[in-house]
Amino acid sequence: MARIAVLGAGVVGLTTAMLLGNDGHDVTVLERDPTEPHGDPEALWSGWERRGVNQFRLLHYFQPAFRDRLERELPTVVEGLDTAGAIRHNVMALVPEELSGGFREGDEQYEALTARRPVTEAVLARVAAATPGVDVRRGVAIDGVLAGSSVEDDTPHIVGVRCAGDDDIRADLVVDTLGRRSPMPAWLTAVGARAPVEEREDCGFVYYGRYFRSADGSVPPMIAGLLQDYGSVSILTLPADNGTWGVGIIVSARVEGHRRLAPRARGIPARCPLGRRRTARRRRRRDGRHRGRAPRLLPGRFAGRDRCGVGGRRVGVHEPVAGPRRHDRVVPRDCASRRGAQQRCR
Ligand SMILES: Cc1cc2nc3c(=O)[nH]c(=O)nc-3n(C[C@H](O)[C@H](O)[C@H](O)COP(=O)(O)OP(=O)(O)OC[C@H]3O[C@@H](n4cnc5c(N)ncnc54)[C@H](O)[C@@H]3O)c2cc1C
Repeated sequence: MARIAVLGAGVVGLTTAMLLGNDGHDVTVLERDPTEPHGDPEALWSGWERRGVNQFRLLHYFQPAFRDRLERELPTVVEGLDTAGAIRHNVMALVPEELSGGFREGDEQYEALTARRPVTEAVLARVAAATPGVDVRRGVAIDGVLAGSSVEDDTPHIVGVRCAGDDDIRADLVVDTLGRRSPMPAWLTAVGARAPVEEREDCGFVYYGRYFRSADGSVPPMIAGLLQDYGSVSILTLPADNGTWGVGIIVSARVEGHRRLAPRARGIPARCPLGRRRTARRRRRRDGRHRGRAPRLLPGRFAGRDRCGVGGRRVGVHEPVAGPRRHDRVVPRDCASRRGAQQRCR
């Protein structure tokens, strides 16, 4: 059993914590935003303050892989989402039968279990808080990492995190799930480690989103695919929980007057200000020369490129930690030999 610090209680941090907690590890999740989720979906939607996640009230669709993974590994979250009014939606149902030949065996894999982000995250937070071995601490702002003595050469060995105005947290493994604006590269540099190589690109579009519900609670039929492209403008329509649906307008930032395109579909805004984001994509990877070092710190996205989706992303930390070489990876802190250290990092 290892002491693991998971940084950030977003969707990825909470999921990672539950998976590791269920494997018997002692997991502490540290989150800067102080507020716990309270109340029913409408109270969460209108009242849960999450300054740490800019896109909190923008459109989210949790992909089928997320549901599939939850069913296999975290069934209590599935129960919680069903109870909270999450919708089950299968994109295959939108394809006309003349084209698809009808629903066939295997198509159930495309079923998504999805809800507005505050509703989904609240369910994850509640199940995480009840998971043995998982301690979620809110209102704790991390402001750096702690380095112990080097394991190998001059590679700093991360042994925990510094918390602003709070006690330091020591850990065998630190998992960075602080989102795409994570200051981890700067924190690593501050303790003498080489920062991961980052690539950032401006996607060149602006994203407007708003959730709606109808006056009588009914949901209009979907008459086209979730995403429709019209040259420099795309329209996204996403089904969500409790009779709500989201409309997103994605437009090239070069289009003049794009603000006028903000969604004004018929329906009642689900008590949310219009969300708007200029989108950028950020990827982080370890420098090739550095491969196999710094075994104590696994950036949350290390398992693959983040393609802008929680659901589609592989569970990056759990598998290597829980895999056959689990003990090689997380247990020894005062590792014995250079060869041993290299094996742990592969
Ligand atoms: C416009 C937009 C639309 C999207 N749509 C979808 C979608 O439809 N489906 C989908 O699956 N994904 C979608 N995403 C992506 C999804 O929102 C992100 O992948 C997801 O939020 C990443 O989750 P995370 O837990 O890694 O990070 P975050 O959700 O960013 O969580 C990071 C957490 O770390 C905390 N934190 C930050 N700094 C500190 C600190 N110093 N100390 C302590 N805590 C700290 C923050 O408060 C926050 O709670 C969308 C993203 C955007 C921008």
